Amino acid sequence: MGHLRRAGVLFAVTALSLGVRSEHSTAEGPGGPDVIAFLHATVIPMDAERALPDHTVVVSHGEIVAIGPASEVEVPVDARRIDATGRYLIPALCDMHVHLLSEAWNIMLPPEVQATGRDVAVEKGLFSYVANGVTTVQELFATPEGIALRQRITRGELLGPRLILARALDGPKKGWPPPLTTWVESAPQAREAVRDAKAAGYDKIKVYSFLDRQSYDSITSTARELGMDVIGHVPMSLSVEYVLDAGQRLITHSEEVAKHAGGNYSAERIDYFASRMAERGVWMTPTLVTTQSLLELFDNPDRVLARPEVAYFRHPRQAGVWSFMIEKLYLPIPAKARQQLREAFEEFQRPLTKAFHGKGGRLMAGTDSLLPGLVPGFALHRELKELVDVGMTPFEALRTSTTRPFEYLGEIDSAGTIAVGKRSDLLLLEANPLKDITAASQVAGVLIRGRWVGTGEIKKRMKELAEPSRAPGGPLPPAGASPVAFRHSTGQGPAPQVCVRRLTAQRSGRIMRSAPKG
Ligand SMILES: [Zn+2]
Repeated sequence: MGHLRRAGVLFAVTALSLGVRSEHSTAEGPGGPDVIAFLHATVIPMDAERALPDHTVVVSHGEIVAIGPASEVEVPVDARRIDATGRYLIPALCDMHVHLLSEAWNIMLPPEVQATGRDVAVEKGLFSYVANGVTTVQELFATPEGIALRQRITRGELLGPRLILARALDGPKKGWPPPLTTWVESAPQAREAVRDAKAAGYDKIKVYSFLDRQSYDSITSTARELGMDVIGHVPMSLSVEYVLDAGQRLITHSEEVAKHAGGNYSAERIDYFASRMAERGVWMTPTLVTTQSLLELFDNPDRVLARPEVAYFRHPRQAGVWSFMIEKLYLPIPAKARQQLREAFEEFQRPLTKAFHGKGGRLMAGTDSLLPGLVPGFALHRELKELVDVGMTPFEALRTSTTRPFEYLGEIDSAGTIAVGKRSDLLLLEANPLKDITAASQVAGVLIRGRWVGTGEIKKRMKELAEPSRAPGGPLPPAGASPVAFRHSTGQGPAPQVCVRRLTAQRSGRIMRSAPKG
């Protein structure tokens, strides 16, 4: 504590000098003064498992400038003061596996709810992340729309999480169709697709299940030349060992490993994969909630869709995408395949996640939000709970959504913990998440890019999401009705037909032992 107290005094000086500077500044961000002080918070900096009671944190222009005991930190006179007495301040959260509702999903929508160009209601849906304390997401079916969205968010025109954008490449005609993915079937095509993605401004390359070996090799070598990470599935034509040797940076589902386990879920086999992956330093987003949600859907779709948070996912395009996936991709999955998926989840995915963690494996929280039952932001809290349920402590689970993503992004020196000099995306909570992980969802406010979003604004905006604006010609599903009940005609063009036929073909085939996911 002695060290901390000294540190507090030092930071107080920093804050004082800042106060002088602020006197001469009249500039204010869109959300209020540039200087914000959280007073009397219990700070959970996430650099170690510790909580600092009665601390004050001062933020200026999106950067943490002071932290110390409340009695020692001088708060600049013009700072916006947020009383955090009895509350807990943690770094804001990241969901490292999401899908945003871009125009590309029109292929699954009936014409009356398709939209091109900007869709304000869908853009507003990004607030669902912010309201849940999620200020960074990695989008794994990124399209040009995501690049435009990122620019608008960065410029402050739209309030939403920071977007890490991955362009998905896949073999032709079997998986999610273009424009969600780019189909490649030769080394030259793959090379060109990676170069195009780099030139267009995408951050990462996502590999999907149906790439052939030549294309995959071309993707990894080209991406390496261009300094891009390759992340994603483990293609069916390859193996876990192969993608580890190729330097794939992230495996995006624990189910991807299960698919390559050959039905052998023994402790030895799990230990083998966990050791191999941990040794190689590959990242994994286990996305346990993705499989869990699918299993719940098999049991009782109406119960999944009766989740309270589904009230915030009722825009006709959102409901339409869920309807399509539920009716065309998931409900037709036969009982035997469902049972296999359930066994893989319980006997392999969950123990693998635990074993990988036990060996120091690099885990990040991800959800596959946009898939049925997974509402943006809310799903992240479910995944954190899943991680605790497999044996991680709340602190360890929180790391997968705070420090770990910034280690993965190579930004841990400037973000991811609460420390002076770091970026200040912060989450204020009503209860202690180190005691009970579900406290991470009890949001008392979010600081995102220096802008304070309090509970009043959260309530107001979330109410708007529950009463979405009517899309042109598109009837809203009645309140409380499940998207399944909101039926639409299908087969509106060749693209959905391809998608449905191919995707549903996978379910019974022995190639894919699982249901399609993003
Ligand atoms: Zn996905």
